[in-house]
Amino acid sequence: MGFPRKFKELLEIELSDVDRPDEAWLTYAVCATEKDSCGWGGWMLEDIRKNADGNDPSLVLPAFCEQVCPRCGKETFRTGATLKFVPSSDQSGRLVPGVDYEELPIEYDEDEV
Ligand SMILES: [Zn+2]
Repeated sequence: MGFPRKFKELLEIELSDVDRPDEAWLTYAVCATEKDSCGWGGWMLEDIRKNADGNDPSLVLPAFCEQVCPRCGKETFRTGATLKFVPSSDQSGRLVPGVDYEELPIEYDEDEV
């Protein structure tokens, strides 16, 4: 079973096809807002910006930044532990296709009639 062909252009997006962020902010979040929260803690995406030069909200790129615990689904709390990341000039992959993992061509369902 393949992917829906109508999403072919989305599924085959490469880095050159999207707005590249100039910086990303991560926040250490904890699941501790309710009595039965699970106590999970981990890094979550705060926001991603392009050409960041201030707080202009128009520079925020789309990203998944929901404050939802990945373990139990309750609301998380963003702690004061935050870090800014800037893309490295070395964008060689951490994992090499064909060496670290097998890369298969994307298969699509037949066109709908
Ligand atoms: Zn939780």
